[in-house]
Amino acid sequence: MRRLRLILGDQLNINHSWFREPERSTSSDVIYVLMEVRSETDYVVHHAQKVLGIFAAMRGFANALESAGLKVHYIRLSDADNQQDFIGNLRQLISQFGITYIERQQADEYRLESLLLKAPELLGVDIRVVDSEHFLANRTAISQQFAVKVQRMEFFYRDLRKQYQILVDEKNQPLGGRWNYDQENRKRWNGKPHLPEWYKLSEDLSELWHEIQSCNVRTLGKSQAEDFPWPITRSQAKAWLAHFIAHALPDFGEFQDAMTIASTKLFHAGISFALNIKLLHPMEVIQAAINEFNAGRVSIATTEGFVRQILGWREFVRAVYWARMPTYSQLNVLRHERPLPSWYWDGATKMNCLHHAISQSLNTGYAHHIQRLMVTGNFALLAGCAPDEVDAWYLGIYVDAFEWVEMPNTRGMSQYADGGILGSKPYAGSASYINKMSDYCKNCHYQHKLRHGEKACPFNSLYWHFHARHSERLSKNPRIGMTYRLWGIMTTQERQKTLAQAELYLANIDEL
Ligand SMILES: Cc1cc2nc3c(=O)[nH]c(=O)nc-3n(C[C@H](O)[C@H](O)[C@H](O)COP(=O)(O)OP(=O)(O)OC[C@H]3O[C@@H](n4cnc5c(N)ncnc54)[C@H](O)[C@@H]3O)c2cc1C
Ligand code: SF4
Repeated sequence: MRRLRLILGDQLNINHSWFREPERSTSSDVIYVLMEVRSETDYVVHHAQKVLGIFAAMRGFANALESAGLKVHYIRLSDADNQQDFIGNLRQLISQFGITYIERQQADEYRLESLLLKAPELLGVDIRVVDSEHFLANRTAISQQFAVKVQRMEFFYRDLRKQYQILVDEKNQPLGGRWNYDQENRKRWNGKPHLPEWYKLSEDLSELWHEIQSCNVRTLGKSQAEDFPWPITRSQAKAWLAHFIAHALPDFGEFQDAMTIASTKLFHAGISFALNIKLLHPMEVIQAAINEFNAGRVSIATTEGFVRQILGWREFVRAVYWARMPTYSQLNVLRHERPLPSWYWDGATKMNCLHHAISQSLNTGYAHHIQRLMVTGNFALLAGCAPDEVDAWYLGIYVDAFEWVEMPNTRGMSQYADGGILGSKPYAGSASYINKMSDYCKNCHYQHKLRHGEKACPFNSLYWHFHARHSERLSKNPRIGMTYRLWGIMTTQERQKTLAQAELYLANIDEL
């Protein structure tokens, strides 16, 4: 009996039980298969660093398995007999190697899981599905629970903290006396503390990049192929994590919402790519932070704030995704239909915050959470851009973008297209928020305090336009009652001028 074990590009988990005794098999009866296929490079236009990083990491992973004595079959993008999709290649391998059954790990994306569920029928072989052994919440149990009612993130996260005994005492109460330190974690960064250096990697991937280009794969952004900055092996990912823990974690909490032109990453971890392709396990990241807390080097507020992102938000968005797909991908409760402005693709806008966040994303494939949520996402929401377009942009532009995590964050959290399944209110903000949390407004063509007039910041009039056009749905939401009260006490003339300014900006959106 010959078995084929399929490893997808985001399943590079060397600690999976497949590779541990007694599951592990070095006999020639088991063939581990990895494949680079056009169906994956082309379902959306990806950032060049994402395609490069995933393929480089897959090649490295295949080499590591081979060095450990396992039999590996690797299909490169440019191989002449590459059928360029999973089913075509599997069909070919079944006859080439006389495969009698296939094993695979559960796919994280609905698109792939549904395709692979059809594979036994399409290929005429049995396929055994095993857990990817990466996530901390059980996918089946939580999807069933959330299919009925989605719990609020806060309570979902507290349950996981108790289940895994993370930052709780023997009575299951939170260490430090509080579950949530968000209030302490919202400071603007004014030049201090000193910014840490981003962990320096500089792998030369130019050969792989030429191969990708010779296959005419469409990508966006800078490839950085000669000086590739993202971790593509487990040892690089571990060194990257250790660097973050030692140099940036102590200040992560307080400045996690801050933005500055002086730094891409501030005190953020930059580990999402390594986590999402499974070079790192979420529990080892959480444990590394807790060790620092136990050693007295990091405050409870920062430790909790960091753990919340991984044990809380990351697991939570995955649970919402799996409970609510495929309908989630079509939700558009605010009926937003506008195309994304053209400058989302090149950063050529006079709005400094957007210019900075988009240019940085094109150059690095990275933006931190608040740049994604309160700058690019916020603008698309206020302007009424179509969630399908916004989703495609986020799925393309970030190195860490995989649909299970990208879509709930984009369509749910940032565009409120799910009507509040994921969050209790839209993340809509005016220039006052951006100015409070960043230094972008200082050097902007527009003036952050103005609502109308030639130099008025577009975020201001669009903010009120958004609330005015959705008042029927949103004004009853107690969490945004204050906004509507402020709108109510503005003079009629002020409201008219503000709405007229927004209309003017929307009519000329590509020129902003
Ligand atoms: C519109 C939008 C789209 C997003 N798309 C993606 C995406 O495609 N892929 C992705 O991994 N994250 C996405 N996020 C979440 C978050 O912005 C990134 O995980 C984070 O910026 C990655 O950088 P970091 O590793 O420096 O994160 P840090 O701020 O240092 O946080 C540490 C880790 O926590 C996890 N995390 C933090 N916030 C979230 C969140 N909201 N959802 C899930 N995990 C979280 C990530 O794994 C991250 O690496 C998106 C957020 C928004 C608002
Ligand atoms: S003034 Fe407005 S457009 Fe300019 S940086 Fe500030 S928020 Fe952005």
